[in-house]
Amino acid sequence: MRTTAGRQAPERRSKLPGKIIEIETHPSRCVGCLLCQLICSFSYEKMFNPSKARIAIERGDDGFKISFTDECTLCGRCAQFCVYNALEAKR
Ligand code: SF4
Ligand code: SF4
Repeated sequence: MRTTAGRQAPERRSKLPGKIIEIETHPSRCVGCLLCQLICSFSYEKMFNPSKARIAIERGDDGFKISFTDECTLCGRCAQFCVYNALEAKR
């Protein structure tokens, strides 16, 4: 089940000390390139398949919405590969 991260709920939080504690999202910067989904699905499923990613990018009436599945590990790879700075890993 996907969370409701987006313009109103922009972050995903972790309780792990010393790790990434949240990924802040900036949907207004998102261009829908899906690089984040590709790196996530490759990292965990060994395939380039956006539908297998733990981050969801959905086009809405007012731009893209970004959300995460409950399986997101907060590894931060999606933020690392987002060249548009729509994802920001916080430590
Ligand atoms: S990589 Fe960044 S810009 Fe591209 S779809 Fe993901 S969040 Fe949006
Ligand atoms: S933080 Fe890691 S597990 Fe979560 S969506 Fe990004 S790449 Fe996937």
